[in-house]
Amino acid sequence: MKDKKKPVCMLCGQPSAKSICDGCAQRVQGEQLGKKSKESKGKG
Ligand SMILES: [Zn+2]
Repeated sequence: MKDKKKPVCMLCGQPSAKSICDGCAQRVQGEQLGKKSKESKGKG
């Protein structure tokens, strides 16, 4: 029986009103920016 699921972040799975919580959203944004750049070397 699963008709209504609580909205959770699709990245970390934490309860969030949005598909992506603020924390993950920031991370994704940062990764996207990093991907654009060719610089692979960085903080490990
Ligand atoms: Zn998240």
